[in-house]
Amino acid sequence: MIKYNLKCHNKHEFESWFSDSKEFDRLKNKKLVECIFCGSKKVEKSIMSPGVLNGKKEVNFFRDKTNKDLIKFKKDLQNLRKFVEKNFQYVEKNFANKVREVYYDKKSKKNIYGTTTKEEREELKEEGIDLVSLPWIDKEN
Ligand SMILES: [Zn+2]
Repeated sequence: MIKYNLKCHNKHEFESWFSDSKEFDRLKNKKLVECIFCGSKKVEKSIMSPGVLNGKKEVNFFRDKTNKDLIKFKKDLQNLRKFVEKNFQYVEKNFANKVREVYYDKKSKKNIYGTTTKEEREELKEEGIDLVSLPWIDKEN
């Protein structure tokens, strides 16, 4: 699952989850993505760089799932993790600084991931850099 910050042509901003990065484009082409405020179908992604959150909050999210769904959901998350590891460069604790490097260097098209503190995320947000947080799950179990 990937969370995108979306923005319609009336500048409404909202968040939505998609099963992968292609699903947004697929749904958009079918005109199935619409603004939750005004129903506009002119919706664009407004994310800059993906971020990965390593926290306990996401784990609690699993509780309400039945076991079968949980297994499938875990599998999806594991696949998502593999996808990120394959396509994104891990920058560890330097994430906040690296995000700025990528964000302010217009030529850079790097995909990076790492962990941030809540404070760092808020600082980046103030600079106009929105991150995407993903639930991070162990490969085994
Ligand atoms: Zn709207």
